[in-house]
Amino acid sequence: MGFRAFVSRRVVTPEGVRPAAVLIDGETMRAVIAPGEIPGDAVREDFGDLVLLPGMVDSHVHINEPGRTDWEGFRTATEAAAAGGYTMLVDMPLNCIPATTNVAALEAKRLAAQGQCRVDWGAWGGVVPGNHDNIVSLADAGVLGYKCFLVPSGIEEFCMVTEQDLRAALPHVARTRLPLLVHAELPEFLGGFSMRDDDWSLYSTYLRSRPAQAEVAAIEFMLSLCRDYGFRLHIVHLATGLALEMLQSARAEGLPVTVETCPHYLRLEAEQIADRATQYKCAPPICSHPNRERLWQGVKDGAIEMIVTDHSPCPEVMKRPGEGNFRDAWGGIASLSLALPVIWTEAWQRGFDLTDIARWMSERPARLAGCHTRKGRIAAGYDADFAVFDPDAEFTVTPDRLYHRHPISPYMGETLRGVVKRTYLRGQLVFRDGQFPGTCAGREFRR
Ligand SMILES: [Zn+2]
Repeated sequence: MGFRAFVSRRVVTPEGVRPAAVLIDGETMRAVIAPGEIPGDAVREDFGDLVLLPGMVDSHVHINEPGRTDWEGFRTATEAAAAGGYTMLVDMPLNCIPATTNVAALEAKRLAAQGQCRVDWGAWGGVVPGNHDNIVSLADAGVLGYKCFLVPSGIEEFCMVTEQDLRAALPHVARTRLPLLVHAELPEFLGGFSMRDDDWSLYSTYLRSRPAQAEVAAIEFMLSLCRDYGFRLHIVHLATGLALEMLQSARAEGLPVTVETCPHYLRLEAEQIADRATQYKCAPPICSHPNRERLWQGVKDGAIEMIVTDHSPCPEVMKRPGEGNFRDAWGGIASLSLALPVIWTEAWQRGFDLTDIARWMSERPARLAGCHTRKGRIAAGYDADFAVFDPDAEFTVTPDRLYHRHPISPYMGETLRGVVKRTYLRGQLVFRDGQFPGTCAGREFRR
């Protein structure tokens, strides 16, 4: 069989946006050429003015299966992903039962994923107290890196680590050369017990209970361990702009540290969050308008290299919608189906372009996950993963646009710019205008 040729006047390549044809041979891109050079026997698919982006890569997703499939699951998470232009997800190790802290648990997750995935996926392993002997075996079994918490994770079976736990684990982590993703807040800064009698229907109460200082101090602590052990440190969901300078000087010093932030920190701000509006609860919390602007400056400077969703859904009842209690509501924002338009809406207004989107939301997360020789760019030799995107169209967020299991979203009712028209996974159409054609062809990407 001959090649297929995907043609568009706006193909987003690492070198810029230009008219091009992408030659596809089965599951792989063979070449990116001028539209006039398409071989005569190639089957053409012409997208006209629609943008051809590389498939988005999300290195921060909570799929919750096996064990908490009533929260989300491989089928619903990967459908939301396909609808959002994503072709590769990396699943966090904590919400599934058993938590992914040893090889048997990883195998249980693989079994649960079988035949259910619309897009490709990979697994992070967990670093928890006492599991340091499993770290190298998890790497040998194919995890892409590790995740740990410095504060309670909200999941009882996935405990936070202390300095002592980390000093036991880090030599093993360093040996694998895989990244350690850290939820960076320190418990001694969190206002737990002392705020028991405060009014938790107020967003300001929640904000006071998790001050930015908790994050700044945790990052400082992790940087000092990075200096001692030389492992690859990755700070997840950076919410405060106050840590940016410290992170930049750590890089200048040569420490192997990377940083992500999330769409909700770049789009939303504390000033707009109504009391009782627990759909906005996440940790660390969404902060002030000036802080949001500092985060955007960090994205612009390159201090923050990537934007990932931290897609973290739960059943509606866990958001405590009736009482609106910010202490007891589950923290987490699900945004796989919306992240690309949310970020494009902001980025376009701020003068960024589609190559920035591809770098922040595809290339850099792929590099973190170690799948950057197959995913993350439109170039010869890469998987034929694409999002077909209309960057000029607008839509209003309604429940039927979300696709994850429980249609809760802080973006409900918002008008966003940019519509994902189609998504292709390794050459196969997996999303088109609200439908999921074809089979569940998603596979695990293993190290
Ligand atoms: Zn998370």
